[in-house]
Amino acid sequence: MNASASPLATTSSEQINAHLLHTVGVDPNRASPNELMQATAQVARAQLSKRWVATQAKERQQKARRVVYLSMEFLMGRTLSNALAALNLTDGAAQGLAEHAQKLEDIANLEPDAALGNGGLGRLAACFLDSMATLGLPSWGYGIRYEYGMFAQEIQDGCQVEYPDSWLKDGTPWEFPRADITYTVRFGGWVTHENEKAVWQSTGEVAAKAYDMVVPGHGTDKVSTLRLWKAVAPDHIDLGAFNSGDYARAASAKNEYENISWVLYPNDSTPAGRELRLKQEYFFVAASMQDLIQRHLDEHPSLHNLDEHVAIHLNDTHPAIGVAELMRILCDEHNFTWPQAWAICTKTFSYTNHTLMPEALETWPVSLMQHVLPRHLEIIFRINKEFLDHAARFLPGDHEFLKRLSLIDETGERRVRMAHLSVVGSHHINGVSALHSELLVRTIFSDFATIWPDRFTNMTNGVTPRRWLAQANPGLSALLDDTLGTGWRLDLGQLKRLEALQDNAAFAEKFRAIKRANKVRLANYIEKTTGITVSPDSLFDVQVKRIHEYKRQLLNVLHVITRYQAILADPHAPWVPRTVIFAGKAASSYQSAKSIIRLIHDVGLTINNDPRIGDKLKLVFIPNYGVSVAEIIMPGADLSEQISTAGTEASGTGNMKLALNGALTIGTDDGANIEIRQNVGDDNIFIFGLKTPEVRALKVAGYHPLNYYNNDPALKAVLDAIANGQFSPDELGRYRGLTDPLIWGGDHYMLLADYASYVATQTLVDELYRKPDQWCQRAIRNVAGMGAFSSDRTIAAYARDIWSIEPEHT
Ligand SMILES: *Cc1c(COP(=O)(O)O)cnc(C)c1O
Repeated sequence: MNASASPLATTSSEQINAHLLHTVGVDPNRASPNELMQATAQVARAQLSKRWVATQAKERQQKARRVVYLSMEFLMGRTLSNALAALNLTDGAAQGLAEHAQKLEDIANLEPDAALGNGGLGRLAACFLDSMATLGLPSWGYGIRYEYGMFAQEIQDGCQVEYPDSWLKDGTPWEFPRADITYTVRFGGWVTHENEKAVWQSTGEVAAKAYDMVVPGHGTDKVSTLRLWKAVAPDHIDLGAFNSGDYARAASAKNEYENISWVLYPNDSTPAGRELRLKQEYFFVAASMQDLIQRHLDEHPSLHNLDEHVAIHLNDTHPAIGVAELMRILCDEHNFTWPQAWAICTKTFSYTNHTLMPEALETWPVSLMQHVLPRHLEIIFRINKEFLDHAARFLPGDHEFLKRLSLIDETGERRVRMAHLSVVGSHHINGVSALHSELLVRTIFSDFATIWPDRFTNMTNGVTPRRWLAQANPGLSALLDDTLGTGWRLDLGQLKRLEALQDNAAFAEKFRAIKRANKVRLANYIEKTTGITVSPDSLFDVQVKRIHEYKRQLLNVLHVITRYQAILADPHAPWVPRTVIFAGKAASSYQSAKSIIRLIHDVGLTINNDPRIGDKLKLVFIPNYGVSVAEIIMPGADLSEQISTAGTEASGTGNMKLALNGALTIGTDDGANIEIRQNVGDDNIFIFGLKTPEVRALKVAGYHPLNYYNNDPALKAVLDAIANGQFSPDELGRYRGLTDPLIWGGDHYMLLADYASYVATQTLVDELYRKPDQWCQRAIRNVAGMGAFSSDRTIAAYARDIWSIEPEHT
């Protein structure tokens, strides 16, 4: 059967018209832009469906070993442009839309982002799916089909205001509801033991319904699947209550369980909704495990060889309950002995850690877990007992060692340490940059590394060049195609060949014109979203990422104010005009982060409206940062701010996207910045500030931020200006909550210690920017060096070293 909407429709243009008529249900001659977007999506969807069916058939027939990637977050962004590119439909769709007097770019921009994640961790999962499909890895991503994704951020009077992001309100052409694929997930109750057999008497249950998003590979017909679970109450409404007129009660039973897939919780939130979050974690893990077990049993007689056919990866600890769930399934439902089951388990799971910061390590109160998942808690206690018996042999009699290793934190309210459960249950544990992986085994997992040194490894993050270069930066992509051929999309290492062109004036001229055009596009976007006019001739200095104290947006603001004061003091000096650009969301409960957003706006109001400053300095905050906004910002950046306190940023991927698009990095010796430096060369990056060992040494020796404040007049002037209300004349003390912790509160992230080095390095940035040829040459060197940061490289390494899965080349 022909998969297009009409057997006569062969060109994309005809298919768009056919879908307008048959699928969208409108007169093709009167279709609105939104209806054209729907119809264009349907053209791609038909092809995705065919590829999905073919991929599944092949993998079934081969009984392929598959990777299952469990993640609470997938920050997918928009789908249309990426799908058209992967399917080689871009030109046809553009032509078809031109016949309706529309540009593909404008139509694509109508699609809402699928923002099912907070930030880097969720975007990493999305880049990984793209690479898994492109490498032809038999692979499944599993997560939650949040009705409301990451909140939409608006700015009112300089303050962040959150709105629900109802990305599904008009439906989406990109999901395939699998009405037949439904599993029951149980909660609560108690456990009975009969003849050595545990029986979980649960008291609540919810159905998990599957919705698939098909992720196309590039340069292959292979696809990957993102299967998202929706929570549906088992009995839709309490009909008894309904018939007796109690509509609230009739609906409440439905809501009590369906709210599991309503909202994405910020990972850095407060206790509010903690129980719901635990239920979410178990909900999607339990449904995914049932699904993968069903698939296994369709192809194999029993679960004894499960570990040979599936690799389950935990993207951070959020799905760690999966370890206990697999033990429960094997022991309680399939009658495996504990040792048999445990052997399978530890050959199946692997785990990526994403943070070293103790406050970000996930733990659950034992009492809450007892309430929600009583059988899993029993299993965790047993895993812990067996593990501690094993560990005791390494340092006999060392009780502190065992206390540190235990899956249960016994200090204060007893809590389950999900990172420990993940480590004990996994055959490989990785960090996400060389530095981070090294720090993992030297700090939070050092005791585990004593027992299992070979379990720990590194997998430096990467980003997909299809979205972050080919799609986001069509200008540079065309130049690369002309210069290198088109192969860089699938082999980013080919960018290395640009090094030979760094002195080629004609190439540099084109490279610069493209950056300039991207800056114009970004300037227009800034004008549209903030009302502020910025000059594309100024240096675009960009810090875009979640707002967090460790990422030190505040240090950036200190520099901006320093520069403002310096310009006022010496207005006729040859200042390099700068536009400082921020974007990022603050968790709704994170008051300091919200205060930083407000400070950026207050300082921007002062500077941008000061006639003495003009174009010498502008400060803007682009609202509602997300994948699609990032696709506009990254190509237009000159300078990439990656200024976390050394030792706090696990990797970063924003740093990679920006350098790949020709921005120079100003950054600390942290995360993947270190590897970016190694790849682009010391002369093509600005590294400043304390290094990780120096941070530690200073803390040990005694860090006294007050000394920096007293001894550096420029620093004192900036902090005093903020603290005394120069930027908040209507409320003088508004920012004491930000400045007091720096000066008097120990300055946890050591902004004051790095301030002088940062400001001095910003002067070096200006000096280089005054020499456009040299700046351009270094920008080219950055692009040339970024081949190593393709997520294809990362995924190939996971497949080879952790999952033992052959990428299938077609
Ligand atoms: C890449 C990306 C991030 C991660 O940025 P970092 O600078 O690595 O923290 C967060 N959000 C979005 C939308 C991204 O595209």
